[in-house]
Amino acid sequence: MRHIIQTMNAQPTSDGAGVNLYRSLGSSRLPDLDPFLLLDEFKSDQAQDYLAGFPPHPHRGFETVTYMLAGAMRHKDSQGNTGHLRAGSVQWMTAARGIIHEEMPEQEDGLMWGFQLWVNLPAKAKMEPPRYQDIPPSDIPEAALDNGGRIRVIAGESHGVSGAVQGIATAPLYVDIRLPKHSTLTHPVPSTHNALVYVFEGEATFGPTEERRTLQRGQLGVLSKGEDSLTIQTQDSEASLLLLAGQPLKEPIVKYGPFVMNTQEEIFQAIRDYQSGNLVG
Ligand code: MN
Repeated sequence: MRHIIQTMNAQPTSDGAGVNLYRSLGSSRLPDLDPFLLLDEFKSDQAQDYLAGFPPHPHRGFETVTYMLAGAMRHKDSQGNTGHLRAGSVQWMTAARGIIHEEMPEQEDGLMWGFQLWVNLPAKAKMEPPRYQDIPPSDIPEAALDNGGRIRVIAGESHGVSGAVQGIATAPLYVDIRLPKHSTLTHPVPSTHNALVYVFEGEATFGPTEERRTLQRGQLGVLSKGEDSLTIQTQDSEASLLLLAGQPLKEPIVKYGPFVMNTQEEIFQAIRDYQSGNLVG
């Protein structure tokens, strides 16, 4: 049974052209959890927190995953892809050798709520052609639980249900778990994978009795390694949370803004390629 070995509160920060968001993974206290590089939650019903959006910017060497809970964004990229990100949809963008994209809000008021996750790529896949998967809400399968809860399976496997996103290098598990009050769920986690949980509504308790930890909205928990399941319990509150797990790459990581490579020289090359117009194509 896995348990929580480290917790952290998501920290308010700003990214893009001035979008206010909450960062947990990817902050100085928790720079990464191989193969995951960043986890942001954006949630605001104040237009000035999100209106500026994410105007055109590059990525190389990893994957960006946007999962929307409320609101609408429009994606456009240098490969000619367009995407309509609406509540319940997922955009899994494998930037690999390079992509330039923008994500701009399609609303001027109302709630905008979702997550962005960065997933690293192995060295051998960092310079492959990019890939873009835009998954509408109706194409994300759900597992119904006996206790009334439900699990949306974005990637990986849960309760006999295969995720919407397939063929990702780090074989990730990405599930959105909704539990009613006074319930218990034991969820498989591949024993080879690093894993974390992030509570985005209510509160839940994780791990076996002797090592229990409770997380509330806006808290991330890093899970212990090696075991193949996680027990989640709720008491007087419902809980909504993400459970993420991925195969660690165990390769050197050199980050510079939107580029994540294995060596400093590869970062310099990415900057040169971007400046000379050769990042994409
Ligand atoms: Mn981006």
